[in-house]
Parts: sequence; structure tokens; C-alpha cells
Amino acid sequence: MKIAIAGAGAMGSRFGIMLHQAGEDVVLIDNWVEHVQQMSQSGIRGTLNGKEIEEKIPVYLPKDIPAGFSVDLIIVFTKALDLEQMLQDIQPIIDKKTDLLCLLNGIGHEDVMKKYVSPEHLLIGNTMWTANLKGPGQVELFGDGSVALQNLEAGQEETAQKVAGILSAAGLNAVYSKDILFSIYKKACVNGTMNCLCTLLDVSMADFGETSEAKRIVTEIVTEFAQVAAVEGVELNVSEMVDYIAQCYDRQTIGNHYPSMHQDLIKNHRRTEIDFINGAIVRKGEKYGIATPYCQLLVQLIHCKEEILQAN
Ligand code: NAD
Repeated sequence: MKIAIAGAGAMGSRFGIMLHQAGEDVVLIDNWVEHVQQMSQSGIRGTLNGKEIEEKIPVYLPKDIPAGFSVDLIIVFTKALDLEQMLQDIQPIIDKKTDLLCLLNGIGHEDVMKKYVSPEHLLIGNTMWTANLKGPGQVELFGDGSVALQNLEAGQEETAQKVAGILSAAGLNAVYSKDILFSIYKKACVNGTMNCLCTLLDVSMADFGETSEAKRIVTEIVTEFAQVAAVEGVELNVSEMVDYIAQCYDRQTIGNHYPSMHQDLIKNHRRTEIDFINGAIVRKGEKYGIATPYCQLLVQLIHCKEEILQAN
């Protein structure tokens, strides 16, 4: 299977490297000129679980993809806010047979992707892998992770299972899920609380979790997610979700960490994915007649912070 990774930043590089090391026919596509130049000249360098790596993988800027180039599978890995532009940029390589796999954080990316491929070619999911891009062509990869994915349309189970098998054979620990929307909402609840709250308060997850208001605020936000999810046939148990999120407060494991949105916005002054996490709940709430005041306020506050820090 010929695979393109579209958006070869932190996560795209991890998936690209692991698939390439497993012998898959992979190409990387990214529009960051310096990063692409570095990767094509010297390969992707850095560490994978503490071991030095230097991986030479074919890489293109979208505008330089050769005419007639086509792939069987495109794994999209931009930030959510760049997904649509990226799909427009790579449209020439998407044909009627191309499958697209989306593992981005957030909810509802299939609505964007459906504009570029027919729904029977869409695979959606999420991943617990992490990755760090230290600079152009420089990665730092450690830890374990997993992938869960499913076909959007009934009848495409075989394709989804085959893709999960290819990812797993590359060590990416992928499973075919029969209930991917539940997993997507579950992860979005964690991101929709920890990411924006720790960013706005400028604290670690444990510092937030130990405040007297933490449980009440998290419960209110998760309730909004659960009400919207219920309309889509996804049953989220609010108190179970609140307990699940509370695992993030454990200082023995990940409690002392700051979530990725904090890194993106506070440290690097980058725009966030808030519109595709809490913002998706606000939009769906409006559509379904469900009030989502906590999510609405969080989206507004994060956008204020983006303006204050002149994020781009
Ligand atoms: P990233 O910013 O490191 O990488 C995104 C890449 O997309 C960049 O290299 C950028 O140049 C490229 N890009 C942007 N627009 C493009 C376009 N038009 N054409 C081609 N390339 C384009 O982001 P990331 O950290 O890898 O995150 C990707 C997704 O994975 C996000 O949804 C994120 O929330 C999710 N995620 C990340 C992690 C993590 O640990 N980094 C973990 C789980 C999920």
C-alpha cells in the first residue's frame, strides 16, 4: 500500500518514521519549506525512545508533488485549523480510490474531509501516541501509544481493518474499533477540559485538579459534551468521564505536565485547536438546541488569549 502522510510535523513524522522503518512505501508532504528542505537533504533526525535516528523518507511540498502521483492511503496530520487548506493543496493526488485516515484531535473533521473524498473512503479515529518536533527535520519521540480507527460508512470494514493491521505491523498498536465516535468524544472531553483550563490558568494539570472548583467546572463542561454526544447516539456517563479526567491530576504519572495547547499558545504563540474541540460542541449545540455556555466562554477566552499573544 502506498501511503502519504499529509502534514509531516510532530505526529506525521512519528507515523512516517515508524511506517518507513517497517518497510512501507511512505511519502511525506508538508508546506513548511525549511522543514521539507532539511528532511530531503539530511533525512529526519532525532531520537526514537532514546536511540539516535536518521530516516530518509521521500518528502514534498504540496506544490512540488509530481504530476500523476497517486497513493492508496493519505494519513492527514496537520493541526485541525489547517486541515481544509491542506486538503485543497493536495487535491491533485486525491482520486476516486484514495482512502483518507484522520487521527486529529477534536470532533467533526469528517465534515471537512467529505468535501474532498466520498464518505466510503473516510477512516476516522484517534491516537494516544505523542510526538515532539524540536525544529526543522528534528524529532524527539518517546513513550508508548495506540491508535483506534473505524470506517465512517458501513461496508468498508475490511479497508479499516487492513489499515489498522498495517499500522500495527509498524508498531503503532492500532485496533479496529466498532464504536469510534465514543473514543473520539472521550478524548475530546479530556482535551476540552485540560487543554483550555490549564492554558487559561497557566497551570499544570495537577495544580488545576487540586483546586476546590476543579470538579465542578469539569463536570459542567463534560455535561455539555455528553448532551451533544447523546444526540449523535454516543452515550457518555458524566461522572465516569469526570473520574477518567481526574487521572490527569496524578503527580506520579502525568499530573505535572502542561497540556499541548499550553505549549502551543503560551510557549510558542501558536493558534489553538479550540474551535475543533469546545468550538465543535458549541456549533453542534446550536444545531441541536442545546445550551453550551461553559464551552462558549472557554472558546471566547482562548481566542482572547490568542489575540493578546498575537498567536499565528
Ligand atoms: P504539528 O504542528 O507538529 O504538525 C503539523 C504539520 O502540518 C506542520 O509540519 C505543518 O507545516 C503542516 N501543515 C500545515 N498546513 C499544511 C498544508 N497546507 N499542507 C501541508 N502541510 C501543512 O502538529 P502535531 O503536533 O503533529 O499535531 C497534529 C494533530 O495531531 C493535531 O490534531 C494534534 O492535536 C494531534 N495530536 C498531537 C499529539 C502530539 O503529541 N503532538 C498527540 C496526539 C494528537
